[in-house]
Amino acid sequence: MDSQLDRDPVCREFRALCRKLGWRVTASRLAVYRFVRGNKSHPVIDSVWEAVQRELPNISRESVYRILTDFADKGVIYQLEKPDVVARYDSNPRRHDHFYCERCGRVFDFSADEVDAIARAAANKLGAITRVEARVTGICEECLRKEQTRTRRP
Ligand SMILES: [Zn+2]
Ligand SMILES: [Zn+2]
Repeated sequence: MDSQLDRDPVCREFRALCRKLGWRVTASRLAVYRFVRGNKSHPVIDSVWEAVQRELPNISRESVYRILTDFADKGVIYQLEKPDVVARYDSNPRRHDHFYCERCGRVFDFSADEVDAIARAAANKLGAITRVEARVTGICEECLRKEQTRTRRP
């Protein structure tokens, strides 16, 4: 990239990030980064693609998707839902919380009723709250056990 871009603070920041991650700085990665960085709108892929096309008219949706996935894998951004997510139906309509296993995809119930009061107090200025649900993501006991036995084997 030319030196003109070096004066751009976002570009400088992105170069440093790429150095840390061992990535090559590309125009498409930079354009995606520029849009998602500090973006509070939780954009879907098509919003990102549309915005990036203003800078790079020929960029494909697939490229944008790949870049976003790479960013999410490295913790630069966070992917709220998996792309293949399907509607889930909970037999328990009463207030409770969920633990999502990122390995097997199972969802477990737990109760942290304190979260309800804390979230309501923190979010009440944003609108009328109808439901509070804590979402915890992690690796379930069973998947942890499987990983341990796998690593123990020669
Ligand atoms: Zn699991
Ligand atoms: Zn549930």
